[in-house]
Amino acid sequence: MDEILHVEIELGQARALVCVSSDLAAEAQRIHGLSHLASAALGRALTGAAMLGALQKNEKDRLTMTFRGDGPLSPVVTLSNGKGEVKGYLENGSLELPLKPSGKLDVGGGVGHEGRLIVVRDLGLREPYVGQTRLVSGEIAEDIALYLSASEQTPSLFALGVRLEEGKVVSSGGVLIQPLPGCSEELLQKLEGLAGRLANISNLSKEACGSAAALVSLCLPGLNYEILESIKPVWRCDCSLERIQRALLSMGAGELNDMIEKQGGAELSCHFCNKKYNLSAEELRHLLQEGLSED
Ligand SMILES: [Zn+2]
Repeated sequence: MDEILHVEIELGQARALVCVSSDLAAEAQRIHGLSHLASAALGRALTGAAMLGALQKNEKDRLTMTFRGDGPLSPVVTLSNGKGEVKGYLENGSLELPLKPSGKLDVGGGVGHEGRLIVVRDLGLREPYVGQTRLVSGEIAEDIALYLSASEQTPSLFALGVRLEEGKVVSSGGVLIQPLPGCSEELLQKLEGLAGRLANISNLSKEACGSAAALVSLCLPGLNYEILESIKPVWRCDCSLERIQRALLSMGAGELNDMIEKQGGAELSCHFCNKKYNLSAEELRHLLQEGLSED
């Protein structure tokens, strides 16, 4: 079962967030009909988004991450909130690239090695908070780690992995470890020493057989820890006819009139879940007349 666990390490000297996201990554693969490469890229991004969402103070806080690289899968876009709800999409979802010499999927080549990660945090205030860092490798986890280090001034160890067998997602997971103020030099070195082990997070999460608690113990061998809190990450798209209508209105009257005259209506699909919305010419005309005053 998918789960995110908040973990306190060595009496609060450090903290970890450990996530099993196999169902989430499999759901994204099914909804978007993704290739192996795109399944790994979006699965990692969604897992990272769910985890960063879980770090927010309030359930309603929304977080948008856009990986805008120079590769063919870009942009990779995710949206998440403090309840663990997450959705996302990317470009060219059927794309495959040659495997890397290590035998791993070339997610960095897909997303692009050059570019930016843009993070928008909507905390319900008048202006959202926008942060931006350069992409480190396009491999997603390293890119998010740099963002966290830069924006929170906290060094972060971050690993994400999606494992596919015979083309299907079989396991997916993530782990984030952050030392906290007062962390001893000894623990800091132990945590740094975990990096190599955590790089194999997709194997560890398979070994954990879908149990987040088992994954915690595999990620933190020899350390004392306590599990504090659990959140369930789930795929959820909150698109609706109203939202689509609002998006149409924002395109302006000229564009809408064009759709009425040239296409006799509009067919739009949600980027996130591919749900289709059809509006007849009649409905578009109604929207033009009434829409602006309804909002
Ligand atoms: Zn949708």
